[in-house]
Amino acid sequence: MQEEFDFELDRVASTIRDRGCRKVLLQFPEGLKRRAPGVASALSEKTGATIIISGEPCFGACDIPDADADLTVHFGHLPIPSVKTRNSVLFIQARSDADPYPALKNALPRLGNAVGLLTTAQHLHHLNGMAEFLRSKGLRVQVGQGDSRLYMGGQVLGCNASSARAVADDVDSFLFVGTGDFHAIAIALTTSKQVLIADPATSAVKDAAELRDGMLRQRHAAIEKARQARSIGIILSTKLGQRREKAAIYSNRMLADAGYETALIEFELVTPQKLESFGLDAWVSTACPRLAIDDFAAFPKPVLTFPEAEILTGKRAWNDYVFDEIP
Ligand code: SF4
Repeated sequence: MQEEFDFELDRVASTIRDRGCRKVLLQFPEGLKRRAPGVASALSEKTGATIIISGEPCFGACDIPDADADLTVHFGHLPIPSVKTRNSVLFIQARSDADPYPALKNALPRLGNAVGLLTTAQHLHHLNGMAEFLRSKGLRVQVGQGDSRLYMGGQVLGCNASSARAVADDVDSFLFVGTGDFHAIAIALTTSKQVLIADPATSAVKDAAELRDGMLRQRHAAIEKARQARSIGIILSTKLGQRREKAAIYSNRMLADAGYETALIEFELVTPQKLESFGLDAWVSTACPRLAIDDFAAFPKPVLTFPEAEILTGKRAWNDYVFDEIP
């Protein structure tokens, strides 16, 4: 059965009506964009408001545009408490209807006694039930409270696994419940503990060890390639929840002190074509850390994260590699 997501159309429609909104912008992450036209026409019918769909890429709740609309409805993510949006935003997490328990059962034989349980916005409504299920099987379950970038305990973002770090000393392994490798990579690079990925859509379970090793090899290669560079651009994002100006200015100074020609350059959306126009030899991204990691193959020049730039300049040892988390 195909996984379905709850767009909470009645709640969205009543919010639009109650607030008297006449123009509404809808934002969808890439995986849900195909559902956008249907959602827009249902909301238009229910409310009479003008519904506009954002056609721009949207990768997270860090990316809320300054919309010319009475309300932005952002589907697929929960709010990031540490990011204060300038306009009125309604977050709809798009709960999945996938049943996570078959995947949990499959994971049981491979888990240690003490387990850190983690998931994403789509499955957080099952978090307490999943913890109870694992406890009923005799496991000690920890649900870590992360920092203020996370909306709920046990939640993980592609740029923040502080909920894993919070309990890492108390668990033998982590169980991440969710689809795809994106979030699991953040956990695997944040902790050295075993990370199992249980996919509620397919009930498949896999160990993230290979992913972790592959990522670390890739990051080591990127740093080594950047050692040939003479000029390095520092990427500063204009997106509200990805803008790390202090880190960008610090990186710029650190690299200049290490003898590189540097330029601090601001982008909204980073693409290989935009970077290539500058003719620089390498880049350090202080925007979404996943740009450097997940889009590795798309960029002709090496793109490093902020802690990787510290390794490049000798301020940090490779053995002290850390995932670039945004707090
Ligand atoms: S910074 Fe990147 S990983 Fe973090 S929420 Fe935004 S898009 Fe996701």
